[in-house]
Amino acid sequence: MELDLCLLPAHRLHAMLVKREIGAVELLQAVLRRIDEVEDRVRAYITVTREEALQQAREADRMLSRGEVASPLVGIPVALKDNLCTIGVRTTCASKILYNFVPPYDATVVRRLRDAGAVLVGKTNMDEFAMGSSTENSAFFPTRNPWDLGRVPGGSSGGSAAAVAAGEAVMALGSDTGGSIRQPAAFCGVVGLKPTYGAVSRYGLVAFASSLDQIGPITRDVEDCALLLRAIAGHDPLDTTSARFEVPDYASFLEEGLRGFRVGVPREYAGEGIDPGVRGVLMRVIGLLEQMGAVVEETTLPHTPYALPCYYLIAPAEASSNLARYDGVRYGYRTRDAEDVVDMFMKTRSEGFGPEVKRRIMLGTYALSAGYYDAYYLKALKVRTLIKGDFDRAFKDYDVLLAPTSPTCAFRLGEKTADPLQMYLSDICTLAVNLAGIPAISVPGGLAEGLPVGVQFIGRPFAEGTLLRVAYCVERRVGTFVAPLARSPAAAAARAGEGAAGRGEDG
Ligand code: GLN
Repeated sequence: MELDLCLLPAHRLHAMLVKREIGAVELLQAVLRRIDEVEDRVRAYITVTREEALQQAREADRMLSRGEVASPLVGIPVALKDNLCTIGVRTTCASKILYNFVPPYDATVVRRLRDAGAVLVGKTNMDEFAMGSSTENSAFFPTRNPWDLGRVPGGSSGGSAAAVAAGEAVMALGSDTGGSIRQPAAFCGVVGLKPTYGAVSRYGLVAFASSLDQIGPITRDVEDCALLLRAIAGHDPLDTTSARFEVPDYASFLEEGLRGFRVGVPREYAGEGIDPGVRGVLMRVIGLLEQMGAVVEETTLPHTPYALPCYYLIAPAEASSNLARYDGVRYGYRTRDAEDVVDMFMKTRSEGFGPEVKRRIMLGTYALSAGYYDAYYLKALKVRTLIKGDFDRAFKDYDVLLAPTSPTCAFRLGEKTADPLQMYLSDICTLAVNLAGIPAISVPGGLAEGLPVGVQFIGRPFAEGTLLRVAYCVERRVGTFVAPLARSPAAAAARAGEGAAGRGEDG
């Protein structure tokens, strides 16, 4: 079988690019061809920036042939969630209200990727303003899961996860406010990491809930995750919440092994409500960790049951404030006929926002309103502190905590759209991490009934290296996973005739 460039991780492509076995333009063209083959079925992208990407790939080839290889991302095709501002390229947040918004500046993460020589392929689909868990809340169209086109890719970074899983990008960035990197990564069989709050600049990320939002990598394997995180992490004077710290070489943690490593499994995450298939994979991973020399014990995070209500007060409260700026004056959509300025605000917002965004604005505005502030918002802040305290206590005894990423595998399109609470419950295992501001990674742990299952490792603040290390050990044992669509007959047919030699790539 011909070596399929669209299925290789960035670190392997990097080695081939540096040795000039392949060119950056050739690699980009392979990815664009894959987009042509599968995108009408997957619909991972809102915008594909072919021309800009070709220019960047040509520039990468020039750098590579001069031997100027400052970064492992030179010439690597990367996709960006459509809530990351890109200068001159439409940034919609999958909302009608921003359907025509072209930012005059780049998000800091985007600028860093450009500086690293990455090739930016396009902007990926998402739940509107990142509110959702299935990418069905996109105002434009839903994205489908490359493992099963009848199922959702997860969300809200569903386009980014699906693009990586389908071979439509080598790696991607997503954002995670309550699980939006980890849950879609789990549903699509790829790796996703939510960094410590403040580890990655949020400058140029369209705000949903500012005290929870973080940008992070979605990749084919753990090594790629380490490389992409290193490229985007670090202090940024343009984001006052970004932390001053020395960005480590995250890849240097990978080979450290697990001897004496202590893993806690919070019982609140392993019990009721978790699908048997997911639990089975979790148990298998626990067994593997023990074989590799780790000590695994049950532990407790007693305030876990309050994470969901706490999140659904704080996140909507912050959203109601952040989304006040979409008034038809400064950005995007404006209603056609309005009687006066107040009527213009009202019509613009009624027509421009989708139902889930409106629900959040109403919930948040209510929680912040005079007379209810203390009972709801202030109370939620206190509970948030208790949740953080649970983690602090657990990390006195354990290097990392292990939990499922989501209670189920990818669900069917339409399965949860009628019931917001069912949709919210999809993030029951990921929300508390954002409330605590700590990092977590989702790594594929196995399959259940042919669908990928992610397991989540949660770590101390700024211990991303430790998370990558333990995730790498799991990946070594269980391998990486290739979605069936990434080797579908159509894709295979298009590749036929390119030669028969080469290795098969999968786990
Ligand atoms: N599903 C959660 C929500 O809708 C989390 C979304 C996110 O992380 N952006 O709020």
